[in-house]
Amino acid sequence: MADRDKALAARGGERTLPFQGPGLLFETRRDGLAFLIFDRPGEKVNVLDGALVAVLEILLQQAARDKNVRGLVVTSAKPGSFIAGADVNAIRALRTAHDAEDVSRRGQRLWDSLERLPFPVVAAINGTCHGGGTELALACHFRVAADDPRVDIGLPEVRLGIIPGWGGTQRLPRLVGVATGLDLILTSRSLNARRALKIGLVDEVAPPEYLLEAAERLVREAADGRRRPRRRAADGLLARINPIGIARATIAGVVARRGLRRRVRQADYPAPYRAVEAVVHGLRAGMASGLRREAELLGQVAAGRTCKNLVALFFMQQAARKDSGVPEGAARAREVRSAVVLGAGAMGGGIAQALARAGVGTRLKDIDPAALARGMRAAWDLYRADLKKGRISKREFDQRMALIRPTLEYTGMRGAEVVIEAVVESLPVKHKVLQDVEAVVPEGFVFATNTSSLPIAQIAAPARRPQDVVGMHFFNPVHRMPLVEVIRGPQTSDEAVATVVQLAKRMGKTPIVVGDAPGFLVNRILMAYLGEALILAEEGARIEEVDRTMAAFGMPMGPFALLDQIGIDVAAHVATVLAEAFHDRAPRSTALQVLKDKGWLGRKSGRGFYVYRGHAEGAAEGGAGGGAAGGAGGDASRAAREVNVAVYGLISAAERQDLDPGPTEARLVLPMINEAARCLAAGIVAAPAQVDLAMVLGTGFPPFRGGLLRHADSLGPTTVVQGLEALGARHGARFMAEHLLLEMARDDRRFYTD
Ligand code: NAD
Repeated sequence: MADRDKALAARGGERTLPFQGPGLLFETRRDGLAFLIFDRPGEKVNVLDGALVAVLEILLQQAARDKNVRGLVVTSAKPGSFIAGADVNAIRALRTAHDAEDVSRRGQRLWDSLERLPFPVVAAINGTCHGGGTELALACHFRVAADDPRVDIGLPEVRLGIIPGWGGTQRLPRLVGVATGLDLILTSRSLNARRALKIGLVDEVAPPEYLLEAAERLVREAADGRRRPRRRAADGLLARINPIGIARATIAGVVARRGLRRRVRQADYPAPYRAVEAVVHGLRAGMASGLRREAELLGQVAAGRTCKNLVALFFMQQAARKDSGVPEGAARAREVRSAVVLGAGAMGGGIAQALARAGVGTRLKDIDPAALARGMRAAWDLYRADLKKGRISKREFDQRMALIRPTLEYTGMRGAEVVIEAVVESLPVKHKVLQDVEAVVPEGFVFATNTSSLPIAQIAAPARRPQDVVGMHFFNPVHRMPLVEVIRGPQTSDEAVATVVQLAKRMGKTPIVVGDAPGFLVNRILMAYLGEALILAEEGARIEEVDRTMAAFGMPMGPFALLDQIGIDVAAHVATVLAEAFHDRAPRSTALQVLKDKGWLGRKSGRGFYVYRGHAEGAAEGGAGGGAAGGAGGDASRAAREVNVAVYGLISAAERQDLDPGPTEARLVLPMINEAARCLAAGIVAAPAQVDLAMVLGTGFPPFRGGLLRHADSLGPTTVVQGLEALGARHGARFMAEHLLLEMARDDRRFYTD
């Protein structure tokens, strides 16, 4: 409200044609300048929902007829947020291609009517501007953005499995060029104000406090004929028969498709391919035809399964962001101003840098000066990369570095609210550091352990306040992996859980609260899969064939490439812990031990199931512990490598034989579903959505499938159970279906009801 009043009242003058609808205000000043101000009541951001679109339709019609208006400024009264996009609930509600096409046509007509207003229109972009918001801004004649870090302009639709459908595929390439436009749409990349200016997406950048003044000046200049809109690519008949323009669009389309094919399959992710089609068609056949095609293609993808699954994941992520991790009102998170990280290795160094990035003062302690120096260097390298890419200023770089204070002693820790332990995976060492910390830090801190396999109950055993001990399991590499498993031990308090859940969110991670059982959630499910892959290899499967099968399923890399990435020693350790805990059903393979004994530790040693060419010792991402690398770490799959055929003779005497991909996929995926069902039944995790989010974020399980259990639902409970029974009959009791799955098959029930 205050901003809006400043926008209008501060400039004085009587207003005419005031209009106030749900979420927006339209006012015209005496001098003929009108303001359209978005301000959704009771919300932090503006989204374009059906009601708002209906009001806008009437408003723009009225404005077009109003002879008093000389120019219009479109802005938002929400600090740091212009328009976050269309309402994702509305996308979820779309059932048919026809409905989706109608929604697209309606939005297109709306922004068309904005573009055709008989006076100049300027968008004053004061913050986040995504999707439908960006399409609105594109339909304005000019755009001014505030030089504010919150300004973030982009078209992220393909992330939700759709394409920009309110003219975005047509107007963006016409404004910034076909190659740049395609790049922004296909990568969902968004831009800050300066970058948007550089590519011509905005016309001016102004200091935030002068944004409206700049917009007014611009609209006045345009109304007086002193300023013309940036020339968009011509769109007349001549342009359409111009062979150079047509060739340029065609070539850009070919290049974009080629790039896409390297990243995603059309069958799994149709939206980016359809976006290319809409862009290229529009540039070749003209705007009107392009808009029609855009709507048709949006209809096709919006009704498809990939879109439904990606939207479901979006909502799961939103829910996880809102979840405090404890029952409502049970406890409040302690505010964390300073933290201690014990152990500056692969994990501790990463955790410290993520804390400092979130503005938390961090004491980083190790016993080894060289490890401490490496930990600091790793943080420096990452911030440096941010600085180089223009994501942070030199000042922010210095501030972040100053927030991490290395130490070899237990000093400077007294005020810490949270101590995160990331020392070596050994119970006696973990007990020692816990007791050391208790001796120097006054009561009232949370002790969060990053253990990958030790039960929290055991770690907490000697603690003075076991209720303050909690698991905080990060994944490797910390800066890339978005998941944190928060593990509640049997004595952990709600307050400790709430505190680390909130801290993980501040660090930009998605926390999921899980119970204290071996392997917690993700590693336990993953080991069912990796263990089965090892048995397949022992039976005679070719490593690359198994990997290819799972890559085709959509995993960022196959199981053997993943084992190499995790580290054979680390995987062997987790496998042993799980084999002890679940001896009745853990897949029994000696392969990891055999490789470990040879010193073939995977990528980090240059040799594991694959041999990595051009590997320099120590060049790989360091790491011991139990984290699974996942989607984001997929670069290993593209590293120059060949199968380490020497493995075959060492792990079994079996002849190599050809695989049938269908049964192989079932043999690797069904055990994961079975294990996830066991976790649910045992209360290790509260809901199917948490399993799915954890698997997508922690292992890169294919998002287009919506997660492991959504995939199970798409197979149907009977198919899952019958598949497990058939595998059990051939390969043994470890495939026995979990009770929950049997019940679901009997009652024809699914994990999700929607
Ligand atoms: P690492 O070997 O890279 O680092 C451990 C560090 O702890 C070393 O620098 C060592 O000098 C230091 N250290 C040992 N004793 C110490 C003490 N008394 N006080 C302070 N520092 C001490 O190991 P990592 O890979 O960073 O793993 C650390 C923890 O995180 C382990 O519990 C591991 O299971 C877990 N974890 C690892 C991964 C992974 O993939 N690397 C993933 C998740 C969890």
